[in-house]
Amino acid sequence: MSRRTGFLLAGFIFIAGGFLFVRTRFDYIHGYPVPCLAGTLMIILGIAEVLYAVMMKGDNRLTICATCRDVFETLKVPDRKCPKCGADLEPLKGFYDRHPELRGDTEPRGRKQDP
Ligand SMILES: [Zn+2]
Repeated sequence: MSRRTGFLLAGFIFIAGGFLFVRTRFDYIHGYPVPCLAGTLMIILGIAEVLYAVMMKGDNRLTICATCRDVFETLKVPDRKCPKCGADLEPLKGFYDRHPELRGDTEPRGRKQDP
């Protein structure tokens, strides 16, 4: 089970448990009072975990080097520096929206000077 799946699962368990709390409104667990608020908090926490898992899947899985434009898996470069040239890495998603001047400039550097 990947870390993301774990977050998703935990999130759904929290949401389900939270709804159970809110719906049944039982006030005591093992003699301790449990307000309805606890269920609401569990639902919020669960939604946050699910959102976090979804974000891990999409936006943050790949990064790109702005200088040499190589793409790396985010988890393999924890310091967020390009292993080739040492420049800062950026999330791949939206890269060409943030750098429209680089659009269409995907040819390797050396080939452009060739006749
Ligand atoms: Zn680089």
